[in-house]
Amino acid sequence: MIEQYDLVKQIKTYNSDLQPGFIESAYQYAKKMHEGQFRSSGEPYYTHPIEVANILADLKMDVGTIVTAILHDTLEDTDATYEDLKNAFGKEIADLVNGVSKLTQIESKNREDKQAENFRKLLLAMSEDIRVLIVKLADRLHNMRTIEGISLEKKRHRISLETLEIYVPLAERIGLHKIKEELEDLAFNQLNPEARESISNRLSFLRAEGSNIVKTIIKELEKLFNSEGIKAEIIGREKTRYSIWKKMQRKNVAFEQLSDIMAFRILVDTSDECYKALGIIHGAYPSVPGRFKDYISTPKPNGYSSIHTTVMGPSRQRIEIQIRTHKMNDQADLGVAAHWAYKDGKDPSTKDAKKYRWLRELLDILEQEQAPEDFWENTKLELFQDQVYVFSPKGDLIELPSGATPVDFAYAIHSDVGDKCVGAKINSRIAPLNSRLSNGDQIEVITSKTQTPSPTWERFVVTGKARSHIRKFIRNQQRDEYIILGKAMLQKIFKQEGYSFNEKTVSNILEQFKLNENNDIYANIGSGILIARDVFKAIFPDHETKIAKRPSTAMDQAVMVKPLNDSDAPIPIKGLIPGMAVHFARCCHPLPGDRIVGIVTTGKGVTIHTIDCETLETFADTPERWLDVSWGDDSDSPQSHVGRLEITFQNEPGALSNMSTVISKNGGNIVNLKVTNRSIDFWELSVDINVDDTKHLNNIIAALRATPLMSYIDRSRSR
Ligand code: MN
Repeated sequence: MIEQYDLVKQIKTYNSDLQPGFIESAYQYAKKMHEGQFRSSGEPYYTHPIEVANILADLKMDVGTIVTAILHDTLEDTDATYEDLKNAFGKEIADLVNGVSKLTQIESKNREDKQAENFRKLLLAMSEDIRVLIVKLADRLHNMRTIEGISLEKKRHRISLETLEIYVPLAERIGLHKIKEELEDLAFNQLNPEARESISNRLSFLRAEGSNIVKTIIKELEKLFNSEGIKAEIIGREKTRYSIWKKMQRKNVAFEQLSDIMAFRILVDTSDECYKALGIIHGAYPSVPGRFKDYISTPKPNGYSSIHTTVMGPSRQRIEIQIRTHKMNDQADLGVAAHWAYKDGKDPSTKDAKKYRWLRELLDILEQEQAPEDFWENTKLELFQDQVYVFSPKGDLIELPSGATPVDFAYAIHSDVGDKCVGAKINSRIAPLNSRLSNGDQIEVITSKTQTPSPTWERFVVTGKARSHIRKFIRNQQRDEYIILGKAMLQKIFKQEGYSFNEKTVSNILEQFKLNENNDIYANIGSGILIARDVFKAIFPDHETKIAKRPSTAMDQAVMVKPLNDSDAPIPIKGLIPGMAVHFARCCHPLPGDRIVGIVTTGKGVTIHTIDCETLETFADTPERWLDVSWGDDSDSPQSHVGRLEITFQNEPGALSNMSTVISKNGGNIVNLKVTNRSIDFWELSVDINVDDTKHLNNIIAALRATPLMSYIDRSRSR
């Protein structure tokens, strides 16, 4: 078992500036915190984080990553808190350990087996610092190395399968090929030991039989390069057992038929020499068509650089050859870690910039254009920051755009769930429907049969699906409102002209207007597409309008529309959707309690005026546009309205503050204020105040009138 001294020694091989105290105190801390805990194998628990740190030291990782590895299980499995870690090791380490713990928690959630890809994305999205993911992969590698300590075969299988589905692709994505291959082999050994064994046997047989061939090939290649004056290191490399197994499955071939189980690698000093070496190889042996790839001029998005070719080799055997520089080779084996190892320390910039450069460069690499034939599109770490991955109660992993809310989640599950949702639980806690979801949250939607989508949802949802369903619902509901409105308007004209309303006579003109049902006609009248009087004229083309002369003043008009009976009672404006079909006139600012009248405006719906508003005179000639409306039942949901006052006060210190104090003391809120006139002695203002109703506004007026320095206060009638 490795002790902290070996660890420090190992790190010193690539980091001569290391202050061993940091590593040692992390070691002592982990040992103390995990005291009394043991692994399934019976070993003291603290040996595990130390081994994980050792794996990362082999990758030449920075000290922060290694300290994180030593502490990686303390938050999850011991009494240590984030604050403890922050105090003892600083914020950076505390954040990193916290990041690893979050991944560990996510890992333990049950989820659907088929959702590996989403789960990988979730892990990437949660690893805001790539070092978090690297520690997690090293953690998994050590757990796989010691998996025999778990006695239950079923559990070993589950962990191995998860390793293949989740962690192997992640290791590959960030370029940790050595870790990827070892994880693969360890999982293979658990899941299919017989196949692995037989491939091993076959390989040793070939090795014994064909060792001459490999040696011959290497020798011949070496001779070739010597004669051309290029210094090259040539390695014959066996493919891994798992990759051979996969190829056997993919191509459905028997082991004997697999020709290229050996790969040769030619390592040179510079990129130029790579192309020279390629020329030498292609000059000496016939190349196999379609097998040439140049990842030096166009590296893979994860940074992989190499030339691949396959030739009919010295002994007329197909051999796969990779040509690359030593540096490219290290990068291919160690990925991110090598990238860091090469770049760090060579640049004389500040310590912090240096520390994070490799991370930035990795992101740069990942953001580069991608070769379409590769599966690398999803490697962009930042890509995953645009998304959020959350669990359903059953463990389904749902992908949503970042900023998504429980309503988006509900619609993602099913449109019915969205339409009927009344609330949500996030991680078992009731949460508002506009809450922003976080990675790894578990969401439960609460539905009610009587619920319908609320127009306010549209303000916070982010998915197109949710938005389009909400809009569709509102459109339908709006149509219902327009139907009620349009029908009432038509009924009114019938009455004015002395007819009793009759649905049948309306349906007679459907064809003429190219509409399907009476409701279409009403909806068109209500929304202002059709004029009610035109419809009436179409129904009774020969009718002579009774009302020839319109009342000339607003008050007369009001008297005319006022007489009511049951059939055309005022339409409660509460029944119309606020802000959609109904507007409050800015000239008179009607308040609940005022007597009001509605004016239908083409394409805009209804505008509400006070019955004594002077603007109404403008509409004296079009009585069909007048609509009896009432405030409806105002008992529920107090809504505030804007009332406008004309105020004149004396030009004295404190007058303005007297005014605003009285207004706010009486529960009014000034929303707009305009000076309409000023003289040496007086100021005249127009003041808009949020109030509940007329009574409320009248109270404020009375209070203002009783206030010192106020000269004149009244409601603004028209302007
Ligand atoms: Mn662990």
